[in-house]
Amino acid sequence: MITVASDPLHPTESLFMTLQANAIAISLDTFKLPAGSPPVACVDIGGTKVAVHVVDEFGVRGKVTEPTATTGQTDALGRQIIRLIGQSCAAAGVPVARIARVGVASCGPFVLNQGAVELAAPNICGGQAGPARGLPNDWKTALLEAPLRAAFSHVRVENDGIGALEAERRWGALQLDGVPMANCAYVTWSTGIGTGLCVDGHVLRGKNGNAGHAGHTFVVSNNDALCGCGNVGDVESLIAGNAIARRFQALGYPDSASLFVAAYAGDTRAIGLIDDLCEVMGRMLYDLIATLDVQRISIGGSVYWHHRDYLLPKLRAVVHGKLRPLTDGCELVSAGLGERVGDFGALALVA
Ligand SMILES: [Zn+2]
Repeated sequence: MITVASDPLHPTESLFMTLQANAIAISLDTFKLPAGSPPVACVDIGGTKVAVHVVDEFGVRGKVTEPTATTGQTDALGRQIIRLIGQSCAAAGVPVARIARVGVASCGPFVLNQGAVELAAPNICGGQAGPARGLPNDWKTALLEAPLRAAFSHVRVENDGIGALEAERRWGALQLDGVPMANCAYVTWSTGIGTGLCVDGHVLRGKNGNAGHAGHTFVVSNNDALCGCGNVGDVESLIAGNAIARRFQALGYPDSASLFVAAYAGDTRAIGLIDDLCEVMGRMLYDLIATLDVQRISIGGSVYWHHRDYLLPKLRAVVHGKLRPLTDGCELVSAGLGERVGDFGALALVA
């Protein structure tokens, strides 16, 4: 008797429905730690804003947000976070001294200085970006982990790709029977491109905590594709949300939304451009599978999420059938936490 094995790149409808159902099952608004758990502080650092909230057995409270500090001394960001944790605790009615752990999910890249993470992000540190970027500081790095460790006993700082990966392993699509998967990756296709990687049950960090910056791997030599990192022709420079706007504006697509609207209306040039974007992203996914031998990759981020029904089959088609001993048995799926992956990143580091 011949049996047809289910195609791992095209999971059965029931599995896919289960994964989508997870997207509805959890919300930060209703999330609570187990009864008796001490409160934890969650910090999200982006290029434009810092967001802090406190979570305990009563739920998520004391949300505060500010523009990311970019003036003053190199410890300005660390000081800002400590102050915002204080404000969040005050708003939540939680004494700061009761905060048991602080989880920080931050944009990268990082540099380790005596074991402590410092931020070397070109959109925050003027000393990295150079004067052309117009940032109001000359920082090579912004202190991050050291000032937090001086103020709190348990601090975990990770790249936001790792935070999202941990959230997907804990509550989203990167679990098997409720257990976090040992070999998996999370990929965000958003304003930028980021990943979080897990192999043999170990979340990969690397020498400076930068494992997963696959968006800055080189693909082509197009000199019309300049990344914010300074590279020309890397994945992010070609397909990230801001790259779509920059590359295709002159063709009449001022942002990614207009490109997709045109494609859905049958515009063959827009369809061709999106196919090209999927070829680049699909190759990056294949490269991750070939390098790491992962079992499942969950994909999120605003560009992907708003067009996932259109994009996922195209991405699967790029990967499908390539060097089958590597790609067979690896699924590409949409993020179980949907648009809320980022909201859970810092929480997943301390909950
Ligand atoms: Zn780059």
